[in-house]
Amino acid sequence: MLKRISTPICLSILIAGTLVTTSCGRKKSSAPDASAKPKTTFISIGTGGVTGVYYQVGGGIMTLVNRQQTETGIKASFQATGGSVYNINTVLAGSLEFGLAQSDRQHQALKGLAEWQEKGPRDTLRAVCSVHPESVTLVAAEDSGIKSVADLKGKRVNIGNPGSGNRGNSLDVLAEAGLDWETDLHAEAVKAAESSKLLQDGRIDAYFYTVGHPAGAITEAAAGRRPVGIVPITKMEGLIAKCPYYAPTTIPKSLYPKVTNKADIETISVMTTLITSADVSEEIVYSVTKALFENLDEFKTMHPAFAYLKPETMVTAGLSAPIHRGALKYYREVGLLPTAP
Ligand code: GLU
Repeated sequence: MLKRISTPICLSILIAGTLVTTSCGRKKSSAPDASAKPKTTFISIGTGGVTGVYYQVGGGIMTLVNRQQTETGIKASFQATGGSVYNINTVLAGSLEFGLAQSDRQHQALKGLAEWQEKGPRDTLRAVCSVHPESVTLVAAEDSGIKSVADLKGKRVNIGNPGSGNRGNSLDVLAEAGLDWETDLHAEAVKAAESSKLLQDGRIDAYFYTVGHPAGAITEAAAGRRPVGIVPITKMEGLIAKCPYYAPTTIPKSLYPKVTNKADIETISVMTTLITSADVSEEIVYSVTKALFENLDEFKTMHPAFAYLKPETMVTAGLSAPIHRGALKYYREVGLLPTAP
């Protein structure tokens, strides 16, 4: 059990502190050790698989935050994870301070939908900003004959691990195409980082991955002996009308010289967002937001998917959870968002 230090000891510490301070000629007087070394606050960012783009976002933010460690006392690290759903749950449980999550997953967690239906709305979820757009990407082996979502019938398809964001998108796309993922195909639930190898080894015919482009996973899938293409995801107007967080997009073929496609690929997209919890302090979120936005030009050079980031879009697009008070403080300070009336 912790005991209060009795007054005489406190007094002697104080005197000792004062003596040291005086002999060093510093003006500030306090206990010697406490003033010598500022406290370090450790924070961790949950990303995704190592061949995705979340991993690059985490690494970039970590670099920028750690450069300011002397002023802020904050030391960041990032880790590979199962993806959006895992990140949201782990941030809300307090084991990670920040996480990357698809905008659709942020919306669902906040409203208590999809994976959060049983637990109900996650009202301590907070948004920091959005990052790059990511597209629902269907990668298939050329010899599988898969040219459309409908062709997945009877095939072995990785729809994503349960902690991923992309699993929900695979299910949405399959349902929109009239396929029952449990009976119409052989669905696998492995992590995206393992998908390319499984495809090259002939153990699956295709996989879904919701990811920014260019992604290491797709380059890796197309680099093997088995020719691979990206399958267009079309006729999704009904899904977009039902779920407005989806938007039509195209994947430029030029980003993947080795895929068999001859033209850009039609599909649908969501946004990557940086999320945190209301329980993380204002100071931490303010410092991380500031480190990212003050160095945005440098961040944009860290991966081609970040090249088109605009601060004005990052503080609005794809954010359904309330913006964390620490991020809001920074946005208001620099005039990115209006101050409260
Ligand atoms: N969107 C994927 C997910 O949430 C991760 C994509 C990435 O790692 O870049 O599972």
